[in-house]
Amino acid sequence: MALMITDDCINCDVCEPECPNQAISMGAEYYVIDPGKCTECVGHFGEPQCVQVCPVACIPVNPEHVETQESLWDKYRRLQAQAAG
Ligand code: SF4
Ligand code: SF4
Repeated sequence: MALMITDDCINCDVCEPECPNQAISMGAEYYVIDPGKCTECVGHFGEPQCVQVCPVACIPVNPEHVETQESLWDKYRRLQAQAAG
């Protein structure tokens, strides 16, 4: 599953640089996660890095983007291929 940031976000800026997929960016009011880029950190880390660092625990799974481990690995490989150009 991709993760999502809720409106509990306090815009502390801590999670954005931790994301290995550059999936986190500032939205209109608070930070947002691009579900097309979030692999739940699969391929990079054992645990979602944004969740580890968020001081207010406002990053649940995105119920609109339910994915299997296999599809997360597929997304990871697709992103790696894109990054390689
Ligand atoms: Fe980025 Fe990992 Fe958080 Fe997804 S779970 S937004 S890939 S840090
Ligand atoms: Fe918002 Fe949590 Fe990210 Fe801080 S770490 S910007 S509170 S989502």
